[in-house]
Amino acid sequence: MESVFPKAINFHLLRECNAKCRYCFATFRETHGRLSTDDALAVMASVRAAGGQKMNFVGGEPTLHPDIERLVCEAKSMGFTTSIVSNGKRLARLLASSAGAALDWVGLSVDSATDEGNAAVGRGGPGYTQQIVDLATQAQGLGARVKLNTVVTKVNVDEDMHTLIRQIAPERWKVFQALRVEGQNETRIGPLLVTAEEFARFVARHQGLNREQIPLVAEDNDAMTDSYAMIDPLGRFFGNTRGVHSVGRPILQAGAAGALASVGFANDKLVARGGDYDWDRKDGKRRLAMAL
Ligand code: SF4
Repeated sequence: MESVFPKAINFHLLRECNAKCRYCFATFRETHGRLSTDDALAVMASVRAAGGQKMNFVGGEPTLHPDIERLVCEAKSMGFTTSIVSNGKRLARLLASSAGAALDWVGLSVDSATDEGNAAVGRGGPGYTQQIVDLATQAQGLGARVKLNTVVTKVNVDEDMHTLIRQIAPERWKVFQALRVEGQNETRIGPLLVTAEEFARFVARHQGLNREQIPLVAEDNDAMTDSYAMIDPLGRFFGNTRGVHSVGRPILQAGAAGALASVGFANDKLVARGGDYDWDRKDGKRRLAMAL
């Protein structure tokens, strides 16, 4: 079967993070160090040449990378649609830099409409929720499109988040079922896991937002497995088949297509979970309507 190179790539630039989410499935305990900035740029160029179209910078916390501004700007220059997912703690200064104008999408992580709820999962403390609202406003003011990420756990499974989501009015709200990944979070996530039925109830409670032009994209554990094209801090694709990270060959040795072939990845699952959406569609009218 002919392999299809994924259009959307998640580059986990580094393992360091300034939050302590108890469910974190990107701890990279097994990964030591990260690529130099020049090598990270070479990885991005290889991915672009292989057919990658959207570069999503993730971590750890990507704003902790000392050259994140340059990486974002160079990604834009290479022709990528650019994106970042951040816990927000250092994002304001990045948005205020030249990277602010180069970012097409800004993803913000928020797991509760209350500071108490965000603190309970280790995501943030007092003021976290308002900070996310303010950052969304800053990003939208720069013309970036905002998406929200929420992980459903025992902490928020019964919560009603309508008011916060409407206030931010993201162009996508991704809702994930907390996922156990061996080697990443297996010692801490147990008390937070929700069943498929509990997750479905959370999604159903908020499904009406779709009619308000806030697309809710729900991903249960199956949808999250092998459906993301992910690069680790050392420049290797990795997958999460059977609930554990499996790492492929370095992109700088095997080339992006060859490196991808060495790990589990299912482009059809990426498409099925809605990961190949029209990220370049401009819809200023909707944003204006939501702002009014
Ligand atoms: S912000 Fe992201 S990388 Fe950091 S601990 Fe939370 S889930 Fe993990």
